[in-house]
Amino acid sequence: MGELADYLRAAKRILIFTGAGISTGSGIPDFRGPNGVWKKRAPVYYSDFMNSEAARIEHWDYKLEGGEAFRSARPNDVHRAIVRLEEAGKILLVATQNIDGLHALAGTSPARLVELHGTNSLVECQSCGWRDEPAPHFEFFRLHRRTPRCECGGFLKPATISFGQGLLPNDLARAETAAHEADLVIALGSTLSVYPAAAIPLLVARRGVPYLIINRGPTEHDTEPKVRLRIEGDVVEIFPPAVEEALTEGK
Ligand SMILES: [Zn+2]
Repeated sequence: MGELADYLRAAKRILIFTGAGISTGSGIPDFRGPNGVWKKRAPVYYSDFMNSEAARIEHWDYKLEGGEAFRSARPNDVHRAIVRLEEAGKILLVATQNIDGLHALAGTSPARLVELHGTNSLVECQSCGWRDEPAPHFEFFRLHRRTPRCECGGFLKPATISFGQGLLPNDLARAETAAHEADLVIALGSTLSVYPAAAIPLLVARRGVPYLIINRGPTEHDTEPKVRLRIEGDVVEIFPPAVEEALTEGK
């Protein structure tokens, strides 16, 4: 534990990279895990969503079914520990693969947050980019079993990145800019197997900056020679106490 706290204490511009493993403690299902949603239901590809009402209905129905877990989820000690680091002036950027909106809910400021795979907290028009809160659109879908449209006629879609859909260029650019400025990079609860998102911590590490990984189970960067510290186990048990130690000692 001491070594992790030492890194946190020394750092001034931390890039935190998070994955599903930090949100399982908040009741969010791990899509890729052994009981993952995608084991039960095939994901809808972006081109199908754009071309077929049946595919749009399937996607909205999948999001409606999964919505309850997201609506009832609350941030846990990992999300809060990251906010504490930000309040201590140590966070450069939080880049998350999670679509649950829990970093924002915990209090990570928008200027310090990039949701690489989008968010379930909004719906977005695929034609004009208009964004809105999801609740009324889910209600429309539930009542009519037709998918909601924007006033411009475009298809509304929960603002998450679908299979076959690229990441938003602006989000990637913000993460890459931070990768060139960070003095510590920590991957929390990610198998680091989904690209291009997982390339971001490597960008930092290849500058010679310390790269730390905390995850339960193997990650695809475990054999990466640039990894300085690899801690195996539950992030919720490991990370918050280390933050506490780093911020309370050696001030
Ligand atoms: Zn529109």
